[in-house]
Amino acid sequence: MLATILHTPRDIRCEEVPEPKLQKPTDAIIRLSASCICGSDLWPYRGIAEVKSPMAMGHEYCGVVEAVGSAVTTVKPGQFVVGSFCISDNTCPHCRFGFPSSCEQREFMSGAQAPLARVPLADGTLVATPVMPTDDLVPSLLAASDVLGTGWYAADAARVKAGATVAVVGDGAVGLMGVLAAKQMGAARVIAMSGHKQRQDLALEFGATDIVSERDEAGVARIKQLTKGVGADAVLECVGTRQSMMQAIHSARPGAMIGYVGVPHGVTLDGQELFFSQTGMQGGPAPVRRFLPHLLDLVLERKINPGKVFDLTVPLKDVAEGYRAMDQRQAIKTLLRV
Ligand SMILES: [Zn+2]
Repeated sequence: MLATILHTPRDIRCEEVPEPKLQKPTDAIIRLSASCICGSDLWPYRGIAEVKSPMAMGHEYCGVVEAVGSAVTTVKPGQFVVGSFCISDNTCPHCRFGFPSSCEQREFMSGAQAPLARVPLADGTLVATPVMPTDDLVPSLLAASDVLGTGWYAADAARVKAGATVAVVGDGAVGLMGVLAAKQMGAARVIAMSGHKQRQDLALEFGATDIVSERDEAGVARIKQLTKGVGADAVLECVGTRQSMMQAIHSARPGAMIGYVGVPHGVTLDGQELFFSQTGMQGGPAPVRRFLPHLLDLVLERKINPGKVFDLTVPLKDVAEGYRAMDQRQAIKTLLRV
């Protein structure tokens, strides 16, 4: 089969590889209905994360079960399933506490930018839909696997409540999903921080009530102005740079929580500044598996349409074009037809 391999930074290829096989009794093999490129795939692509050996890319997936190992009991061939980018057993203390992304048996999914993929710990990781979804729902179901689940976690970690004023830092795909999540959780006001017209429009479509196009302290000043000098009740940090983290902390009112889901690169925080900000922070890899059943319901009932975040679709063989477009910010998120 053809699959996506990153050889060295920027050398991304679609090439012939052996089809995945069941390796353990707890595995499943799925035939993907679609795949996509994640913002985090750009870290090794850009050489910011090290590429020691050729990497099988792709960790967002949904599709039909082809085969299961002898120990798998909750999914069976022919079912449509969605799983998280974190492989988890759903039974260990961290999973039971709601943090499958810190599962004692955690692995990170790979090799999903391909027509077939092996999913370890299938019982704990995969969620089957009650019926075979129609094709038009596939992009939204695929989004649940990572980008929607991560935006949802940002809002959950920021403790977004009904009636709250929420600020979202970051207008990438995850930030836009954070806007959608905050709206779904009943936020009265969702302030999206974005300087790009197309992303602003999508944020408004997903439920933003205000747009702040200024950055850094000017952006913070604008949020203060919009909240009568108080600051936001909840802040979603969806970038991971020092600049975005400071923007998030300074936009939050005392007592607010900040959900941070951008993987920090070069971020150090000052203890005293954090102390006197009186804000709380929760972040990390999103425990998507916790949210999946609810998110799949929302998509299947057509209450949300997160699939709109894909603004470029290319066939798998043109995967390099998809990476290039996201790298140059010409595309928000690329869907791959497999
Ligand atoms: Zn676990």
